[in-house]
Amino acid sequence: MATPRPTAAGLSYVPNNPNSPWQMYLQQVDRVAPYLGHLARWVETLKHCKRVLAVDIPINRDDGTVAHFEGFRAQHNLSRGPGKGGVRYHPDVTIDEVMALSAWMTVKNAAVNLPYGGAKGGIRVDPKTLTRPELERLTRRYTSEIGLIIGPDKDIPAPDVNTDAQIMAWMMDTYSMNVGATATGVVTGKPIALGGSLGRREATGRGVYITARETAHGMKMPIEGARVVVQGFGNVGGVAAQLFHEAGAKVVGVQDVSGSAMNEAGIDVNAARDYVAKGGSLIEFKGVTAISESDFWALKSDIFVPAALENQLTAERARHLSTRLVVEGANGPTTPAADDVLHDRGILVVPDVIANAGGVTVSYFEWVQDFSSFFWTEAEINSRLERIMVDALKAVVHTAEEHKVSLRTAAFIIACSRVLAAREQRGLYP
Ligand code: NAD
Repeated sequence: MATPRPTAAGLSYVPNNPNSPWQMYLQQVDRVAPYLGHLARWVETLKHCKRVLAVDIPINRDDGTVAHFEGFRAQHNLSRGPGKGGVRYHPDVTIDEVMALSAWMTVKNAAVNLPYGGAKGGIRVDPKTLTRPELERLTRRYTSEIGLIIGPDKDIPAPDVNTDAQIMAWMMDTYSMNVGATATGVVTGKPIALGGSLGRREATGRGVYITARETAHGMKMPIEGARVVVQGFGNVGGVAAQLFHEAGAKVVGVQDVSGSAMNEAGIDVNAARDYVAKGGSLIEFKGVTAISESDFWALKSDIFVPAALENQLTAERARHLSTRLVVEGANGPTTPAADDVLHDRGILVVPDVIANAGGVTVSYFEWVQDFSSFFWTEAEINSRLERIMVDALKAVVHTAEEHKVSLRTAAFIIACSRVLAAREQRGLYP
């Protein structure tokens, strides 16, 4: 197999593309600036990443050739604590995307009041094209390269798209070998046997479900019998769909990378997840009918959960979306223009920085448990998660009502005020 030619495509950075994730994030910051009071003088802090590391990752392929991949780790803001955020393996990863995702982590961690800054990493790779030994070598070399800036008290990676507990185990082992001590707290989302936390794998989907349930309650919309459509059927979308299903909602539509599927009577989510987990293609699952992409976006629902990638809910799609409530499982799925369309159409949006904060919240529990070497029960984890999510959502709803702004701007007001207050109190070095 030929070695792929280095393209540095992930480094290409198009500052004026309004739909790039980083530009989307900047527009969201502009919307919050008028509500920051005296802290607005620090708002430029939010528009810059503290540090972005781009690394070359050469690996030996199984066929004896050498392949190079581009990897990144961005630390957007560390004012309130060490960096925290996932690592994504995807062919479309760019420096722009990683910067935006790191900034959204700053906002998310502050919105739920976790003592962390924001960070994110990624490798520009389609992991399906690698064998398992190649994936392990890629992960270990990437970890060594970003080892300069990560650590249990510096920056703590976690799983994101196409990364899982096994990849976290390799990252933990590589970092530990390099520093000469077992450092379980360097990553979260690890296997339970290596200091992972019960409930972590399901935590993001559970948080999506909790915020949807609470918001629906405020709208006097019962979850039982509600029609739910989910885009993305992985860790976040799959778990959220399952919890909706268990609560008596009807999951009538699901989309993943293989295509779109529906069942008017409600999809048997557990059976569909089993089928996909065993390597089946969602649209070939017996209990669904395959539909076109445009039909998927027009499906009638009460709750729509985008849980795949950013930039999915565009203004065009927002004009046709037939739902009452959007709960963002993915990071950055809704463009600012789509936000405006949904607002005008009276469709409420629970933003990513609150709705999908369950994962990082239980990551925080995992990190605390690793430091104290004392582990909690799953019931304790889930009840603490529930309390943090419900309280954070209540505060956001309250702020939205007070300032007459969207839930997204309200979440940004709370989060950015916390980040900038820390910035001000710490002062500028030197
Ligand atoms: P995952 O890899 O487990 O699943 C991703 C899902 O999206 C898969 O079902 C995949 O088929 C589908 N998908 C990918 N590209 C698609 C496309 N173009 N159209 C439709 N479906 C597509 O990833 P995940 O961990 O579930 O992450 C999903 C989103 O949630 C991402 O935005 C991620 O940043 C965000 N998120 C994840 C976590 C976490 O704890 N895993 C936490 C917070 C936010």
